[in-house]
Amino acid sequence: MKHTGGCHCGRIEYEAEIDPEDVIICHCTDCQTLSGSAYRTVAFTAPDGFTLTKGHPTVYVKVADSGRERQQAFCPTCGSPIFAAPVGEGPKVYGIRVGTLHARTALPPKKEYYCDSRLDWLPEMGDAADMPG
Ligand SMILES: [Zn+2]
Ligand SMILES: [Zn+2]
Repeated sequence: MKHTGGCHCGRIEYEAEIDPEDVIICHCTDCQTLSGSAYRTVAFTAPDGFTLTKGHPTVYVKVADSGRERQQAFCPTCGSPIFAAPVGEGPKVYGIRVGTLHARTALPPKKEYYCDSRLDWLPEMGDAADMPG
């Protein structure tokens, strides 16, 4: 389904093709730090299912312990995280930051990832199926 979103200050706007079954919470420590929050909620796009309609995000390339690189895109003015995507050529699946989607209330997460680093004061999240980190 086609969704629209944007950053807090309005400099960045986008369209994304999202499967509502492919929305997750990530409890990994990188997501905690990069989001500045307890966890991150992510909606994955279809391959190349992301189009900027306004503005250009700043990209920070995160290098994982495995050496794998991943782009982290955010608004250069207000800092809202917009998406993560693989580095390099080829069709890309984008991990959209659900808090920037206009229809975020209609996109509840279906799974939780990296529960080993889940903060233990978080309440249970209903039907979201736990996946071990
Ligand atoms: Zn902004
Ligand atoms: Zn994560």
